[in-house]
Amino acid sequence: MRVSIREGHVGVLIRMDIILRKAQEEGYGVAAPNVFDGDSVRSCFEAALELRAPMVIDAGQSVDLEYIADVTRFYAERYPEVPVSLNLDHGKSFDAACRAIRAGFTSVMVDRSQAPFEENVRETREIVKMAHAVGVSVEAEIGHVGQGANYSADRDAGLTRVEDAVEYVKQTGVDCLAIAIGTAHGKYVGTPRLDFDRLVAIRKAVSIPLVLHGGSSTGDENLARAVQLGITKVNLATDLMVAGAKAAKEFVTANEDPRLPQVVKAGMEGYKTELIRYMKLFGEENRW
Ligand SMILES: [Zn+2]
Repeated sequence: MRVSIREGHVGVLIRMDIILRKAQEEGYGVAAPNVFDGDSVRSCFEAALELRAPMVIDAGQSVDLEYIADVTRFYAERYPEVPVSLNLDHGKSFDAACRAIRAGFTSVMVDRSQAPFEENVRETREIVKMAHAVGVSVEAEIGHVGQGANYSADRDAGLTRVEDAVEYVKQTGVDCLAIAIGTAHGKYVGTPRLDFDRLVAIRKAVSIPLVLHGGSSTGDENLARAVQLGITKVNLATDLMVAGAKAAKEFVTANEDPRLPQVVKAGMEGYKTELIRYMKLFGEENRW
C-alpha cells in the first residue's frame, strides 16, 4: 500500500478529513451514503461524476469490508477524477478499526458513544494513535445519536454538551467529530427537533469538521440549516435504502415479466436519485 500522509492519499483513495476540511472551508456539506454491495458503491461514483462532487462512502461493520474496499478501489482507478474516501461507519472496537484499515479504508469511525466519557476517550485515543501512524483519519462520536424508534427517550438523553466536545477533541486528537443535536437513526417516531443553538455553540468551540448521523427523514429544511450552521458531513442510510426498494417495487408492478438485472438496476437508480437529491441540497455540485 502506498501511503502519503502529506497529500492525504492512501493508494487511490483520500483521507476523509481532507475532503471534509475543504468542504468546511468552502461552506458546503458532504452526503455520506451507506453502501452495502458493489452496485451501491458504483451508484455513489455515478452520483459524484454526475455532479462533479466529492464522495465519502460509509460502510458499516455488518457488510463485507474487504469486498467493499476492493470495489471502491476498482471504481476509484476507473474514475480517478473523483475525490473519494472510504470510511468505516460505527466501528465498535480496536479490532474492527484494524480490519478496515488493513482492507484499505482511509477513515474509521469509532463509536464508543455509549461508554462513560473517560472510557470513550481512552479507547478512541488508542485507535487515533494507530490510525494516524498509517495515514488514516478518525471520526468519533461524543454525546449519543440514538434510534428514531425510541426518539422521545433517546433525544434529550444523548445531546452533546459543548464542554464535552471541546475536551473530547483535545484529549483524543480525532479528525472529525460526530455530535448529537437531536437527530436519530432510522425513521422517527415523532417529529425531529434539532437543537441549532447547540450546533452553533459547538461549531464555535471546536475547529474540526462536524458530522451529523441520522440524516434520513430529518427533513430537507432541517438538514440544509444544519449544513449552513456548520455540519460538514451528513450520514444517510434509511432514505436511500427505502427509495431504492420503492423504485424496484414500482418497476416490478409496472412490468409483467421482470428479470432480476432489470429490477436491481431500477432499485439502484432509485438509490442514486435520492442520493443526488441530498447532495444538491448540501451544495456539493461542481466542487472539482
Ligand atoms: Zn450513525
